[in-house]
Amino acid sequence: MADKRDYYDVLELSKNASADDVKKAYRKLARQYHPDVNKAPDAETKFKEVKEAYDVLSDDQARARYDQFGHQDPNAGFGGAGGADFGGGGFGDIFDMFFGGGGGRRDPNAPQRGNDLQYTMTIEFKEAVFGKETDITIPRTESCDTCHGSGAKPGTKPETCSVCHGSGQQEVAQNTPFGRIMNRRACSACAGRGKIIKDRCGTCSGSGQVKKHRKIHVKIPAGVDDGAQLRVSGEGEGGMRGGPAGDLYIVLRVKSHDFFEREGDDIFCEIPLTFTQAALGDEIEIPTLSEKVKLKIPPGTQTGTYFRLKGKGVPRLRGYGQGDQQVKVTIVTPTSLSEDQRELLREFASKSGEATHEQSKNIFERMKRAILGE
Ligand SMILES: [Zn+2]
Ligand SMILES: [Zn+2]
Repeated sequence: MADKRDYYDVLELSKNASADDVKKAYRKLARQYHPDVNKAPDAETKFKEVKEAYDVLSDDQARARYDQFGHQDPNAGFGGAGGADFGGGGFGDIFDMFFGGGGGRRDPNAPQRGNDLQYTMTIEFKEAVFGKETDITIPRTESCDTCHGSGAKPGTKPETCSVCHGSGQQEVAQNTPFGRIMNRRACSACAGRGKIIKDRCGTCSGSGQVKKHRKIHVKIPAGVDDGAQLRVSGEGEGGMRGGPAGDLYIVLRVKSHDFFEREGDDIFCEIPLTFTQAALGDEIEIPTLSEKVKLKIPPGTQTGTYFRLKGKGVPRLRGYGQGDQQVKVTIVTPTSLSEDQRELLREFASKSGEATHEQSKNIFERMKRAILGE
């Protein structure tokens, strides 16, 4: 926690970066460090770091809190100081109040929320575009059904510890060079639980919890992108002593596609054209994510030209509509020509005087000037 990098540094941004800058920086770095692409041993760590920074800086409220408090956001729990001893006096209670129960004295019998779980799921390119419903199986800790989480054999109850009277803590006097100090530590009789189980539940051996493999139905919405995180409320680890379960976070990794590339809600692809198609114009079939569509190539199309197919991109995750598909055409120069074809091209060249086209004239002019050193 202590040497955590500044989120702005992680995303290589200045403090006044716009929401758009944050998004762009995240996309760029997430691509760079995605473990599917980047095989460096620290890529995954970097990827997580980038994701975490983005999660905070892309959320207006979280960002404002971060700007004010840095990594010591009081609403995010009192990170790192959990081990400090705040025992004695009311100090612990004040910390409890401000820091959400991070480091202070706690009732050992109070309900406790279960931990959050994280699951990484790799999905196909088109599944991210159109969404997917699937079942996943996750190992998690749940409250024991036999004893309902108490840890005691059915028909019996855990008894309040007679040493600490249920507080789970013991005061121990210690002689030090500075005098006698009262120290608070976990009760040795009940290991800080405040209760003693005489007859243990056979299913969970008294822990009140069992490991289970649980099947969970997951709905991935259409339009998710690589690195997206889905929260499945209440599907994390089970709570203790009647506390609520944690949440399950599903981190999505999207596989790349042979033909399509994605940037935000737009889809990009590259289509080869022959020299004659580009010069004379043509109508060609373009594969999109859902179907084939016809695209008119106007006569005289230059290599590198983009054509936009409206609404053929990715459905917008938030709001309505879809992105576009952008088709880049590339003119492919023929490589194996017959003598006939060569002759025709020579004839073509002599007839066109090589540079009739305005654009190519300009390029030739500029090239000549460059050769003369102008
Ligand atoms: Zn049990
Ligand atoms: Zn005790």
